[in-house]
Amino acid sequence: MNETISTPIRKKLVILGCGFAGLQLSKHLDKTEEYEIYLIDKHNYNEFSPLFYQVASCGLDSGSICFPIRREFKYSTHFHFCFEEMKSIDTEKQLVQVGNFQIPYDKLVIATGVVSRYFGNDAIRDYSFDLKSVPDALLLRDQILLSIEKANECTDIEVRKKLLTFVICGGGPAGAEIAGALGEFKKFIIPKQYKRLDSRDMRIIVIEGSGKIIHSMSEHASTKSAQFLQELGVELILGAHIQNYDGKTVTTDKGDSIDTQTLIWTAGVEGVVFPGLDKTDYGPGNRLLVDEYNRLKNHPEIFAIGDCCLMITDEKPRGDPQLAQVAMQQAVNLACNLKQPDVSKWKKFSYYDKGSMAIIGRNRAVVDLKHHHFAGRTAWWLWLFIHLIMLIGVRNKVVTFINWVWNYFSYDGNLQLIIKPSDRDKKPMPGE
Ligand SMILES: Cc1cc2nc3c(=O)[nH]c(=O)nc-3n(C[C@H](O)[C@H](O)[C@H](O)COP(=O)(O)OP(=O)(O)OC[C@H]3O[C@@H](n4cnc5c(N)ncnc54)[C@H](O)[C@@H]3O)c2cc1C
Repeated sequence: MNETISTPIRKKLVILGCGFAGLQLSKHLDKTEEYEIYLIDKHNYNEFSPLFYQVASCGLDSGSICFPIRREFKYSTHFHFCFEEMKSIDTEKQLVQVGNFQIPYDKLVIATGVVSRYFGNDAIRDYSFDLKSVPDALLLRDQILLSIEKANECTDIEVRKKLLTFVICGGGPAGAEIAGALGEFKKFIIPKQYKRLDSRDMRIIVIEGSGKIIHSMSEHASTKSAQFLQELGVELILGAHIQNYDGKTVTTDKGDSIDTQTLIWTAGVEGVVFPGLDKTDYGPGNRLLVDEYNRLKNHPEIFAIGDCCLMITDEKPRGDPQLAQVAMQQAVNLACNLKQPDVSKWKKFSYYDKGSMAIIGRNRAVVDLKHHHFAGRTAWWLWLFIHLIMLIGVRNKVVTFINWVWNYFSYDGNLQLIIKPSDRDKKPMPGE
C-alpha cells in the first residue's frame, strides 16, 4: 500500500527586526512545525546596545558586541534570513515590501526598535552624534579621537578648548555611561598619551532636562550616579533643555551657551511610522499600540514587541519601560502564544522587573533590585558579570572579558583607532 506522507502546511511568519526582541522570538520559534519563518533586518548582525558606549570610547571593538544572524540560525531548516530594509506593509494583501520585492505573511511581528527623537529640531539632528547603533558608535569614536588629535596640534587656546568640549544631551543611563567613559579618558589617557594637552582643558558636560541624573532609577542610584560623574570631572547642568545647536554652539533654555564641536544626543527616542499602517495604530512617541497579547488593535494578525510597541493597561497607563528585558520577555510570551493554536488559551504579557543597573566608569556602578539598592565596586562587578553573560557567542564573551581585564590593569584605551573611509567609497560599486 502506498503511504502518502503529508507535509504540514506551514504558516508564513514574518519577523521584522533582529534586535533583542526579534532574535529571542526567532530562537523560540525556529524549530516549530507550524511556521516558515522569514526574519528581516537591515543589518546582517545582532548588536548589543548596552555596550555601544564602550565601542565609542575605545574600550571594545565592534566585533565583540555583534553577532552574525545567519550563524545563529545555521541549523534551522524552516528559517530564512533576509538582509534588507523593510519599506512598507500592505495590510490588505498581507505583504511586506523589502528592498525591491515583497514577502507575503500569515502573521507579522514588528520588532524594529526605535530611533532618536529630536523634537522637530532639524539642526540638532544634522549636527549631533547618535548612539543607537554600532555604526553610530564607530562614528562617535572617530569624532572623539579626531577632536583630541586636532586639539593636540592646535595652538589657538580658544579653538583647542572648543575641540576638547564634549556635550551630552540626556542624563539617562546611556548619557551617564558615555559621560563616565569620557571622564576616564580625561583622567587616564589624556595625561599619558597627549603630552601637549592639559587634561583640565577637556570638558565633559551633561545637560539633563529633569532635575536628576538617571531619573528612571531610584533616588539612591540617581544621587550616586551624579556623585560618580562629578568625581570623574563631569559637569552637570540639570533642569535645562538644549534649544539649539548649529554645529558650533549649544544653547539651553536656562541661558547656557557652550562652544563645542561634539554634541552627543541621548535625549529621547521614537518609533518609525511605516507606510501601510494607520495613524490610529500609533500612540505617543510613534509607538505601536498593542493589547496584552502584543496584537495590534486593528490587525489581529500583526504583532509588535520591544521598544516599538506601547501596551497601555490600567496598572501601567504609560506602558512598560523601553528596556532589553521587556523586549525579550515580550518575545518569549508571544512565542508561547503563537505555538498555541487555541487563542483562548493565550497568556497575557506581564513584565517581571529583575532590576536595573548603570555603569559610570571603573569601579563605579549603580544597581536597583526590588528591595535593595547599592552602588560602587560590588555593583560594578555585578554589571560586568551580567553584561558578559548576556553577550551572544562564546567568542564575544571571551574577547570582551580579555579586553576588560586588559583595560582594567593598563588604564589604556587599546582601541584608539581612527579608521577613515577609504577612497574606494567615492567610486561606484561594480554592477551599479
Ligand atoms: C546606548 C544604549 C544603551 C542601552 N543600554 C541598555 C541597558 O543597559 N539595559 C537595557 O535593558 N536596555 C538598554 N538599552 C535599551 C535596549 O537597547 C532596548 O530596549 C532594546 O534594544 C529593545 O529591543 P528591540 O528588539 O525592541 O529593538 P532593537 O534591539 O533596537 O532592534 C531593532 C532591530 O530592528 C532592525 N530594524 C529597524 N528598522 C528596520 C527596518 N525598517 N527594516 C529592517 N530592519 C530594521 C534594526 O537593525 C535592529 O536590529 C540601551 C539602548 C541604547 C541605545
